[in-house]
Amino acid sequence: MKNMETRVLIIGGGITGTGIARDLSLRGISCIVVEKKDINAGASGSNHGLLHSGARYVLHDAGTAMECMEESRILKQVAPHCIENTGGLFVAVKGDDESYIADFPALCAAAGIMVSPVDTGDALETEPALSGNIIAAYETTDAVVDPFRLSLENIFHAVELGATLMCYTCVTGFSISNNRIRSVHLLNTQTGETLAVKTDHVVNAAGAWAGETADLAGINLPMVYSKGTLIITHQRIARQVINRLRPPSDGDIISPGGTVSIAGTTSAPIHDLGSLHPTSEEVDLIIREASAILPEFKNSTFIRAFSGVRPLTGSSDIKEERAISRGYILLDHARDGIENFVTITGGKLTTYRLMAEKTADLVCRHMNISRSCQTRTLPLPLHDACRWSEPGLSPRYWLKTRKPGDLLLCECEMVPISAIDCILESMKQHAVPPGLRSLGIRSRIGKGPCQGAYCSIRTIAYLYDTGVLQGDQGLIEMIAFLRERWKGMQPVLWGERLMHAELQEAIHCGLFETELQK
Ligand SMILES: Cc1cc2nc3c(=O)[nH]c(=O)nc-3n(C[C@H](O)[C@H](O)[C@H](O)COP(=O)(O)OP(=O)(O)OC[C@H]3O[C@@H](n4cnc5c(N)ncnc54)[C@H](O)[C@@H]3O)c2cc1C
Repeated sequence: MKNMETRVLIIGGGITGTGIARDLSLRGISCIVVEKKDINAGASGSNHGLLHSGARYVLHDAGTAMECMEESRILKQVAPHCIENTGGLFVAVKGDDESYIADFPALCAAAGIMVSPVDTGDALETEPALSGNIIAAYETTDAVVDPFRLSLENIFHAVELGATLMCYTCVTGFSISNNRIRSVHLLNTQTGETLAVKTDHVVNAAGAWAGETADLAGINLPMVYSKGTLIITHQRIARQVINRLRPPSDGDIISPGGTVSIAGTTSAPIHDLGSLHPTSEEVDLIIREASAILPEFKNSTFIRAFSGVRPLTGSSDIKEERAISRGYILLDHARDGIENFVTITGGKLTTYRLMAEKTADLVCRHMNISRSCQTRTLPLPLHDACRWSEPGLSPRYWLKTRKPGDLLLCECEMVPISAIDCILESMKQHAVPPGLRSLGIRSRIGKGPCQGAYCSIRTIAYLYDTGVLQGDQGLIEMIAFLRERWKGMQPVLWGERLMHAELQEAIHCGLFETELQK
């Protein structure tokens, strides 16, 4: 077994773990981020990408509403390259709860959130796809954020400052003595290699899996899980984020994501984190609800659906799931008898910076270090290799800077060979194994209308040609990638598109002698 040492070991490479790594690194504290899959493998890679103004939470959760408002203001200043500052509209249609519509401005004002009434005619002029049935509209400061770019930029900066990222490495246990974790046991899921890391402190930022990870230290952390499903349209339907002006419910947000629109979410209690896939019923519900405010939604072509899981805390009454706080919890496990272990879970993508700051403050207090947080004002640096996850970037960028011979690997999203080379180089620096799935996280490969049907084959061929992959590595990658894509496409396929997709599936099954529907 190999040995390593660090001051802080962070479990989880989502937005919370990568944000904490950057915060601690800026305070001069060495850390290792351990992620069992790849960056944003959990909720951070399966969300709506909405940088909340806070207005959505004013009814049940004023604390979260205020945090969202403040954090979105800060992020717009320090990380503008990860954000499209679209603005947002809250709109009600005939039949919506009139008392909520009347209370909304006062609820927002009480939380300090700025909303301004908009004449319904003006709203229709700025967003022509809105329903003619709207009866009230308010403007908010909602925006959208690229969650992949945000996590990648955070980890890039942390690594530049001395942090280490270990992907495909799972925390399997702890050595504990005298009320302290002395070392963390890790398993490399690709090579089977095991190692132990000596550390002064452990941060559990494992999202929905935080309960499982706490259990490895003998700590009981009851969790409630809520599954959320979203669907992606082929085209962008509205310029701004469109929210339904009603108490939070299913299918009431349609946010833009570059060239597409993303609608959702649903919210349903689940007990098993292992079987997460979108269903046709969820898709039907989202289409019905989204079409009430944007009627052309129901006639859209849908690219895919996906699901994520929110770890919720504060109540185990799953009937009242929508009323459970979207706030975060930061637990000091000294109260459970382990002095150098903390858990941070729940919260929002929008509030990740604050969660990282509070966690790093607590870790510093435990370690008697008095260095303050810098992320509130220090701009998040830009890195070339992080830009390619941005929807709609490649067509603009490639057309402007294209060099002879720089062929496209993905024609839907226009991802050229030079982008893949740049990303592969960065993955080498971070010791991330190359493959279709890791390239898909860091670029738009496989995210366009063909959902990887063609670019997966071209990209794998390129990786074989350049010697990056050998033996059957590429085939294994390809099948795993196509299976994941198929899971998201299945619930949004009907009519002619279903026939085309089944033909494509048959070609892939024939080529690779496998089944995609597992
Ligand atoms: C459907 C949905 C929509 C959402 N929409 C929005 C939105 O629009 N705006 C917003 O602000 N927020 C939104 N959220 C919330 C937001 O996505 C989450 O708050 C945020 O992504 C949580 O990040 P995290 O890093 O804490 O957890 P995660 O991203 O889940 O990261 C945890 C990581 O820990 C890793 N891990 C687990 N166990 C181990 C182990 N033993 N060893 C090593 N690694 C391990 C996992 O692989 C995972 O990558 C949404 C959430 C969902 C589910």
